[in-house]
Amino acid sequence: MKNLTLGHIAAACHGTYYGSEEKKSQCIEAVTTDSRKVERGCLFVPIVGARADGHKFIDQVMKQGALATLSERPLGEVDFPYIQVESSLQAVKDLAAYYLEQLQIPVVGITGSVGKTSTKEMIAAVLEQKFQVLKTLGNFNNELGLPLTVFRLREEDEIAVLEMGISDFGEMHRLASIAQPNTCVITNIGTCHLENLGDRDGVLKAKTEVFDHLKPDATVILNGDDDKLVTVKEVQGRRPIYFGLNEGFPIYADEIESKGLKGIACRIHTPKGTFSVVVPIPGHHMVYNALAGTAVGLAYGMELSEIQKGIESLQSLSGRFHIIENEKYTIVDDCYNANPMSMKASLGILKDAMGRKVAILGDMGELGENEKELHREVGTFAGNCGIDLLICVGTLAKEIAEAAKESSIQAEKQLEAVSFDTLEELLMHLGEQVKQGDTILVKASHFMNFGKIVEALQK
Ligand code: ATP
Ligand code: MG
Repeated sequence: MKNLTLGHIAAACHGTYYGSEEKKSQCIEAVTTDSRKVERGCLFVPIVGARADGHKFIDQVMKQGALATLSERPLGEVDFPYIQVESSLQAVKDLAAYYLEQLQIPVVGITGSVGKTSTKEMIAAVLEQKFQVLKTLGNFNNELGLPLTVFRLREEDEIAVLEMGISDFGEMHRLASIAQPNTCVITNIGTCHLENLGDRDGVLKAKTEVFDHLKPDATVILNGDDDKLVTVKEVQGRRPIYFGLNEGFPIYADEIESKGLKGIACRIHTPKGTFSVVVPIPGHHMVYNALAGTAVGLAYGMELSEIQKGIESLQSLSGRFHIIENEKYTIVDDCYNANPMSMKASLGILKDAMGRKVAILGDMGELGENEKELHREVGTFAGNCGIDLLICVGTLAKEIAEAAKESSIQAEKQLEAVSFDTLEELLMHLGEQVKQGDTILVKASHFMNFGKIVEALQK
């Protein structure tokens, strides 16, 4: 890894090096916090977590071929080099910032309340048409995940696409001072983490902490249809680039048309011209993600044809409206997470599916004191959107089923709704509920563990 000798590492993370002079000038090959993933020549970082203390694994990883380890405690007389630091977590952040500086690779930083990972995947899909891109894997977006992503960068990478997730004030300062984005994208300002941030103005303030850490002449790309983001007006003395569905924006979309489970079509207008595209993942929000991808592609000098190809090459991630077809069913695996907005969006897409339409919905967490009402709202929507069978799992989800039954009485098509108290109970009766040819949406908050349902449907 470029310029990451043990000596440089000790200096970058304000630690003390213990070991031979010869080893001090050697470069590490990788950084890992996971003792099971130790590779030859790597630096091991023992993190002290709630469940485990990484220091327990130091002897083992050194035997496995690590070059050196960090340690928050003195290790005494040992036959391997180590760097003593006050906090491993802080050291990892300092080291990531130092490493990014050595590489001088442009960084696209993505934040926002909802859709960060989806937008990150879209932006990477676009940039990959022209550049060697390194992107955050999955959801590695926090104070540990971001540094670990940075350590995956190598000299041949041309752009880093990094997701940044926060839940409190000050956190973005810590993330963005590592990433120092050249390009910054904010998807929207929602109502997540209000326990810390108070209200949407608080969310805006916390997310826009990123502006204090941008590279000079950075490009800021914001969703102009978000009533909070549109108030930003100026960053580094310049107007951000806004995207949205309004033709007043430099990058906007129209002629939006659902293609059912196949995706969503739209026409995208840019200062360089217009193109039509089918985003291969369904959902109205995917149009926004495609606009963000277009804006970033243009910022890096890409042709519209390359951007269009990139958008069309997008692949879905498991748990996020990921479609699995087997000989019995079409499964829509959307079980990574849920809130009332995304549940309604997914139900809205399911209604265009082939065959019998089944929704298996579970509890949504972190909704505060109105949680019952918010579940009922989803139920009312479900009762009117043309689905055939609604299966609800969990105490709160019962409210979805009740409201759905009530509202479907007046609807054109009556739906059948059943409730189960627990996931185990549903799994025992799943086979009696679903039939060959069904399209089955599986969605709930992460803690409901609905991945088990997707697994069961694939057996
Ligand atoms: P996390 O905070 O867990 O990292 P995230 O911000 O990365 O979440 P995603 O995982 O990309 O969000 O998306 C969560 C869900 O939000 C998706 O399954 C999809 O239904 C919906 N979604 C995706 N993109 C957008 C968007 N731009 N606007 C609104 N909703 C979106
Ligand atoms: Mg994410």
